[in-house]
Order: sequence, then structure tokens, then C-alpha cells
Amino acid sequence: MNVEEFRKAGYAAIDRICDHFTNLQSTPVKSSVTPGYLAQHIPSTPPQQGEKWEQILDDYSSFIVPGLTNWQHPSFFGFFPTACTFEGVIGDLLASSTSNPGFNWASSPACTELEVLMMDWAADLLGLHKDFFNSSGKGGGAIQVTASDSALIAVVAARSQYQRTHPEVPHEKLVVYTTTQTHSLGLKAGKVLGINVRAIEVEAADQYALRGHALRRALEEDTAKGKHPFILIATLGTTSSGALDNMVEIKDVAKDYPSLWIHVDAAWAGVALSCPEYRDKLYHAEINEMATSFCTNFHKWGLVNFDCSTLWVRDRTLLTEALDITPPFLRTKESDSGLVIDYRNWHLALGRRFRSLKLWFVLRSFGVEGFRNYIKRCISLNSSFQHKIAETSLLEIVTTPSLSLTVFRIPPSALSPSPTTSTSASASSSSASSLAITPEAREPTLETMNLVNQAFFSRLSSRNDILLTQTVLNGIFCVRFVVGSEQTTINDVYNAYEILVKEAEGAIEDWRAKNPVTLSQVGGTSKPTP
Ligand SMILES: *Cc1c(COP(=O)(O)O)cnc(C)c1O
Repeated sequence: MNVEEFRKAGYAAIDRICDHFTNLQSTPVKSSVTPGYLAQHIPSTPPQQGEKWEQILDDYSSFIVPGLTNWQHPSFFGFFPTACTFEGVIGDLLASSTSNPGFNWASSPACTELEVLMMDWAADLLGLHKDFFNSSGKGGGAIQVTASDSALIAVVAARSQYQRTHPEVPHEKLVVYTTTQTHSLGLKAGKVLGINVRAIEVEAADQYALRGHALRRALEEDTAKGKHPFILIATLGTTSSGALDNMVEIKDVAKDYPSLWIHVDAAWAGVALSCPEYRDKLYHAEINEMATSFCTNFHKWGLVNFDCSTLWVRDRTLLTEALDITPPFLRTKESDSGLVIDYRNWHLALGRRFRSLKLWFVLRSFGVEGFRNYIKRCISLNSSFQHKIAETSLLEIVTTPSLSLTVFRIPPSALSPSPTTSTSASASSSSASSLAITPEAREPTLETMNLVNQAFFSRLSSRNDILLTQTVLNGIFCVRFVVGSEQTTINDVYNAYEILVKEAEGAIEDWRAKNPVTLSQVGGTSKPTP
């Protein structure tokens, strides 16, 4: 492809992207292809002769697009959002045209220098302590691929620091602390490094957050057994339910464990620190006071296209002591003079993508206000969702909603043998029949509730006009609802609510059909079912 052909093809590709976004609302959010579909359209070997560009691009539209899950769809309420803004797309396009490996300053001074500045912009946006800024010369930040990479780097650096200060401690005595709600990145880091990971139990009564007493007990137990705690991965905004580990209490415990590295994984929720009104809730003061490292993903809820995980450390030598490798061919006079950052020593690989360009474009184009407004709009749409849920007896919120995430399910009361409708008037008119029913018969077991909710979720999953994800919280099967698409409006939220009520009704009816309860039977089933 020559320059003029690229010009034409590039415009044509942008046109397709525009059409895709324009038609998103009327496109299914979920793909309906079946596993292996693509091999039926794409040959098993590359072509011997080059093919016509138009054909290649047409095949993209014909075969790839139908196999895409539309994460930017206004009815996408699953997982956590992955941001995609046009500013970010253009940033990525330009970055890919430089195809720069960015491993040291000299490999392209602009790549390093923009990242140094953008990490400070982002730190400023989130209100981080000045020690985390690159301009402090003390700590600093670098863009990583994902939050999992950020956590792995934190564990590698923490291990390295611990082994420097405790050279006598054997590797197998080291322990990484997480909770049962920590993202799998904790276990993954343990697996990669061959280090023990302890997942501390968390309670529903604490909204699944790590409490100080539970952390202290785990640390004391393990220390008594001769183990060596060296890092805690605390989470602000857990994946399942948005739980916020109690950083005030963690700070208190950490005082007694000065060599414990505190990594804060705020992959999804961290960007909400941009809004001053959410800072207290998100333990802003404690992050600034005691986190050794802090990570949030701008590629989730931060308007920057995947991938852009931002990791800050309070002391940059903690990274470089663990990761610096400088063979003669990578030495430069700028690096030797200490005037520049060589980002290869701040992450796992050598080469790195030029990701700061998209962060720069997004932050300039939105401005701090535009960024905050987007976050606030998502949270407000989630509040509207909670209000709708409160209107029906068919659904209940399972744990305190967190920012733009609500976790809910069909409650046991919705299975009561009287015909349930969403209006309280008809619920009370059925009191005559419920009088004859024992309390045990009215309270279905957890197992029953999980089966009904799984059936509810599978009804939702079989639709392609909405996407939500499931989770299990201490044994309770639930459904998650997260707002994040830039295109989502209040009508999409109301529409989602209508779908949820309809499918909940369907799941309850199906269950009733399979479990007919007549008043004469009720007395006989008053013993708890096994
Ligand atoms: C999504 C998520 C992660 C994983 O993010 P990656 O960037 O894909 O590794 C980690 N922690 C939390 C809390 C998350 O929500």
C-alpha cells in the first residue's frame, strides 16, 4: 500500500468506524456467532499473492464485526466498561504510525517525555500526593498494559525490596495478602512468581470489604508460623461488588508492619477520585498517606481506549532496584547522567507502546470538568437504576451499590406462593392465603434462590439486546449492573429495568410451574428442605 492508497483506505476505514458508532443503538449488543464460526470464513493459511484492499476491509465488516461484543453499546451493563472515545482512537492511530518501542529516552524522546508529563496530569486529576508525581524526582508513574501487570510489578518490586532487607528469608516463607474478593490478579501474581497468596475472608455485613481486625489476625497467625508477610493487595472497587477495603483500618494495622508494601488496586473505581465529592468515600487521604503503589485503569472507566493502566509508586527506586537491567547497548549518555527516565526499568518488558498520546488527547479534549461530568453521569444513571429496583418486589439489591455498579437478584420473598406482582396492593390482597403458610415454607433455601437466579440470568443471557454479568457473593448468586458507555441514557436504563422485570417474572413463573405449592401441601413441607 502506498501513501495515496493509504490515504483512501484510511478514510474508508474511518467511515466504517463512524457508521458503526452511528448504528450502535440498533445493533445487537451481543454477538450471536457460535464457537469456531470464523474458521468457516477464513482460510487456514495466508494467501500466496497479496489481495485487494477493498476485499480485505469488506471481509472485516462481513466476518469480524458480527463476532464482536459491542462494549460501547448503550445497553452494555456487563463486566466493567472499557472506554472508547474518538480522541483515544486517533491517539492510538497516530501512536501506531510511529511504531515506537519507547524502551529508553533516546529511542524517541517525545514518547518518554509525554508519558512523564501525562502521568503527572493524571496524578493531578486524581488528587494524588506530590510524592507520586514524576516531577517530585522521588516517586512517579508509568503506563502499564493492564492492572494485572501493575499488580505483578508491585509484587516483584515488593519481593525484591523485602529480600534486600531480609536476605535470610527463604522464598517459600513469603506471603502475598489479598481477600476472597480480590481480582484474580493476586493469585496470578502468586502463580507467576511461585509465591504463597493468602485470601482473607470478608463478610457480607462489611459489604465484602477487608477490615483491619481480619487483616491483623491473618498477619499475626502467619507471622507466628514463621511466614513473612511482604505485600497486601488492597482493592478499592472490587470486581464483583465494588467493595472498598477499609483503608483507615488497614493503615492502622500497617503501622505495626513497616515492611508490608501496600498496593492499592483501584482498576475500575480509581478514576472516580477525579471528582472531589467521592474522594472521602474512596479513601483518598489514606492512599496519599500510606499506599506504596496505586493503580487505576484509564481504559476502564477513564475514557481512554484499551490499554492504559496507570501505576504510581511513592519511591521510584523500588521499581528500578527490582527491574533495572542495562546492557552496554542500551546505555546512553542521557541515562547515565540521570537526567531522564528509562521506562524499560519501570515495567516487565523492554519495548512499550506509546500510550500517553491517547491519554493526552482525551484529557485535553474533555478537560477536568468534562471528565468529571462523565463519571458523575454514570453514577447518577446508576442511582436512577437503584430507584427503579426499589419499585419492584421482584428484585432486591444485595449489597450497598458502589458508584456506577449495583448488584441485585430475585429475593426469596418473590417466590412466595401467593401470586406476586410488582404492586404492593395486590400483594396485600393475597394475605388470606399466606396466613395458612408456615414461615419455613415462605423462606426458600439459598440453593433454591441460586437456582431461580441462575435461571433468571440465563434468560437475560439469551437476549442479544442487553448485556449484564453474573457474580457470586459469599455463596449468593447475583447479577451485576454497571453503567459506563458514553452513549447510555436514562431511557436505556429504564429499558434495562423493564427487561429485568419481565425476565424475573418469567423465571419465577417457570419455577412455580415446576414447584406447585397447594395450601394442603404447605403444612407438609414445613421442615427445611435438605
Ligand atoms: C478489571 C479489574 C482488574 C483487571 O484489570 P486488567 O487491567 O484487565 O488486568 C483488576 N482489578 C479490579 C478491581 C478490576 O475490576
